[in-house]
Amino acid sequence: MKPECVLVRVGEISLKSRKTQKKMFSTLIKNIEAAIPTGYRIETNPNRIFIYTDDIEETVDSLKRVFGITSVSPSWTCFSGLDEIKLLASDVATEVLGLGPGKSFAIRVRRAGRHPFDSRTLAEEVGAAVKRVTGASVNLGEPDAEIWIECRSRRTYVFVERVPGPGGLPLGVSGRLVSLFSGGIDSPVATWMMMKRGCEADLLFAYFPKGGDESSLKRCVEVCSDLRKWAAGSELKLFTFRHEKSLAEFVKKGGNAVCVLCRRMMYRVACAFAEMRGAHGVVTGESLAQVASQTLKNLSVINEAAKLPVFRPLIGMDKEEIVGVAKKIGTYESSTIPISSGCGRFEGCWARPEKPETSASLERIKEIESKIDIDGLVSEAVNSIREVEI
Ligand code: ATP
Ligand code: MG
Repeated sequence: MKPECVLVRVGEISLKSRKTQKKMFSTLIKNIEAAIPTGYRIETNPNRIFIYTDDIEETVDSLKRVFGITSVSPSWTCFSGLDEIKLLASDVATEVLGLGPGKSFAIRVRRAGRHPFDSRTLAEEVGAAVKRVTGASVNLGEPDAEIWIECRSRRTYVFVERVPGPGGLPLGVSGRLVSLFSGGIDSPVATWMMMKRGCEADLLFAYFPKGGDESSLKRCVEVCSDLRKWAAGSELKLFTFRHEKSLAEFVKKGGNAVCVLCRRMMYRVACAFAEMRGAHGVVTGESLAQVASQTLKNLSVINEAAKLPVFRPLIGMDKEEIVGVAKKIGTYESSTIPISSGCGRFEGCWARPEKPETSASLERIKEIESKIDIDGLVSEAVNSIREVEI
């Protein structure tokens, strides 16, 4: 007995104003259509989406990665008549749940619309029918199985499980960000968190290979394609800019402040790129005091170089918590591919000073920068931005 459709629940969307809800719903449906296997039919009802398909399993699996969905249930459906519902629930109880004597069950009802019966009558009548047909007993406290009945005006949906979705808001409803994307563990998690809140992202990688080694770029490509599994309905593009000329200048003139100068440069390029892409801010994987460049004092000096807001969704998270999310969303493995040069944990950076500054002063940084053609370096870096084919 195969379920006929997948019932999709949305969370926060249902709390929005009617107009916002309508907009968010249509973005969500566009994203769902891009995520699921072809050959479906979609129906909507206030706060619910019903997907009729032959490929229930793959559809459910894809929906686990569509933001804006709180949970889904493979469902059986019938007309909203008491006899029809009793019959369907009894079939599900025997054929799907295998209920019989010695087992217990509960009927959970949710009703919306006008019907000649109330919710309580519905639950009692269906419960009695299932009991009669299966020989199982009713236990509302801790039953062996639960049968949910969602009774809407014309149609009723019966289901036995709720598969959690990622929650959040549909990708695309919150505008666009540029993500400073290293392909390490943190920046993909930070990007994912902003995508979860509805932001589309353009990934921007500061590329400074050692010799001809492309391992850091290859890692970014791998991680980007993992992250794309969450981006149905939107394009998640990867861009690079060349960063080695700036770094070489900072090594020459920056002493122990190289990391701070480097990060200020990345922010400048990201903000310029954001303006080109119609993005409203930058997201990074910075987490307070995780490494030398991320002390509170350094972050405030680095932040000063940004023209747009910089979002740091990982700021208060421990590394272990971030690793936990990376594993859950499926970026951890590709993020830990060893690379030859970068500023993450698994590798050294060729420009990193012996003892990086942890307490930068804006005055000193500005003094160093006054001896460097920062504007020239920014415009060269911006001109070097290229999209990477994935
Ligand atoms: P890890 O995930 O292992 O910490 P990381 O890339 O986060 O590696 P950090 O030194 O913590 O390394 O960098 C902080 C943040 O700066 C990153 O999360 C990312 O947003 C940004 N960043 C670092 N290196 C680059 C780079 N090469 N290109 C673009 N952004 C970068
Ligand atoms: Mg980091």
